[in-house]
Amino acid sequence: METPRTVLVIGAGLAGLACAHALVRAGLDVLVLEATTRAGGVVQTHRGDEFLFEEGPNTVQASGAAFRACVDELGLTPRLITTAGSGGTRWLWHRGRLVALPSKPQELLTTPLLSWRAKLTLVSEPLRRWHAPAQEPTLRDFLADRIGMEATMRLAGAFVRGVYGAEIAQLGAQSAFPRLYAATCVHGSLLKAAKSLQHAPSGGLLSFPSGLEELVEAFTRALGPRLRLSSGVQRLMRTTEGWTAVLDSGVHIRATQVVVCTPARAAARLLGEHLHNSADTTLSERLATLPHASLTVAHLGFEPTGSRNAIPAGAPRGFGYLVPPEASAHAGGPLALGAIFASELFPDRAPRGARSFACFLPAAWADQRSDDEIVRGATLDLLQTLGVRPSSSQDSDSWPQPRVSRVRRWHNAIPTYGVGHMHLVHAIRTHLDQHAPGLQVAGSWTDGVSVDAVLASGREAARRAQAQALAQA
Ligand SMILES: Cc1cc2nc3c(=O)[nH]c(=O)nc-3n(C[C@H](O)[C@H](O)[C@H](O)COP(=O)(O)OP(=O)(O)OC[C@H]3O[C@@H](n4cnc5c(N)ncnc54)[C@H](O)[C@@H]3O)c2cc1C
Repeated sequence: METPRTVLVIGAGLAGLACAHALVRAGLDVLVLEATTRAGGVVQTHRGDEFLFEEGPNTVQASGAAFRACVDELGLTPRLITTAGSGGTRWLWHRGRLVALPSKPQELLTTPLLSWRAKLTLVSEPLRRWHAPAQEPTLRDFLADRIGMEATMRLAGAFVRGVYGAEIAQLGAQSAFPRLYAATCVHGSLLKAAKSLQHAPSGGLLSFPSGLEELVEAFTRALGPRLRLSSGVQRLMRTTEGWTAVLDSGVHIRATQVVVCTPARAAARLLGEHLHNSADTTLSERLATLPHASLTVAHLGFEPTGSRNAIPAGAPRGFGYLVPPEASAHAGGPLALGAIFASELFPDRAPRGARSFACFLPAAWADQRSDDEIVRGATLDLLQTLGVRPSSSQDSDSWPQPRVSRVRRWHNAIPTYGVGHMHLVHAIRTHLDQHAPGLQVAGSWTDGVSVDAVLASGREAARRAQAQALAQA
């Protein structure tokens, strides 16, 4: 048994780090317990062979208020780097080639990506008033009702794959995009709602010269000995004074407040016994079985222009491309869900003149293959999608080969915010408030999956824990 703490934070991903940092700034006695040997969770920057690969998140929206606040408090603002504009042209695979996505709303009228019928349905959307149904619709049904099935599947279906790694029919409209859904309820129109939420130009995408792990390193420095690695928590027990965390090592640590910042399945194990006696007895089971997206990322770094192994100069440039569900591999399209042109986003991600790519591949395909097979398959798929068209039967020695490659397999990495997800999180929080005071939850399954949403969720949990600690004092 160790000296009791005021707050224990379980999990040192971005949610846990942001939570702990806010609590330290508020003057509370905090200890962060992390199961693995490193902090940062899915934020993992790999540097080597002159390439920098972001194995987890690549960029953060410049409009992210929680990210900005953390960066500022950690003194990292001078280290921020920004993409030019919104990160360059975004491409969509359409009818056998990459087509630039409209960058302004008015370009929707001229884009070859949509038929005239689809364009008409889209622009007439504000004329057809929307009334929220009693039950949350899937994102696909909600959007199809507003902008038609063609634009929904082709544009939104591709976008959703890029954010959630999931298919549009798997998401709940309100759960996955709560602000947009709420604004549509107010305005009765999706396009009016989208306009009302667009206050200022987004200001591009952000990172740091040494990648997003700079943020993790700064949090780690600020927390110092208050961050304890290799300290997985096995069980949380309720006591008369508060809570006791039982570590895998058998050590017991007491605290008055606990913030669980682990992924959903680990949270379900820790919260399970405290979610019992709920009117909704399935809460812990639903949390334990929350669907997640799994995917594999193949990072490919090619030689500079001029080399035989360079990507030919005419290949598309910009942010990257997405493949809409209708054009997936089973329909004869690319294998990847999409790819980020990593070396185009920020300087020094690759040697001068060289290009690097992060190709997002379905886990179902990658799971049956070795890393070498994945690199080979991803390279061929990338080259074909970019229009550098080796045929699969052609001798692979004649295609440009990546000089550096790295395969990262992510299992159950991104929670799928399906229909009813928001209600589940709300029901869990309400139950904990009433029956397990002093226990908070935060992380990618609670308030949104983006880096900014996760940081905001950690900071908000810190605010609630601080208020409860003050009330108890
Ligand atoms: C491949 C990929 C690409 C992404 N790209 C982007 C992007 O470009 N932009 C963007 O905004 N977002 C992106 N995201 C989403 C975003 O990065 C994540 O949602 C976010 O970083 C998750 O943070 P977290 O703290 O909630 O969880 P995690 O990062 O999963 O951290 C949870 C931590 O809890 C620890 N833990 C688990 N169980 C225990 C236990 N029992 N005891 C103690 N510790 C425990 C884990 O070891 C881990 O360190 C991406 C995500 C992935 C996977």
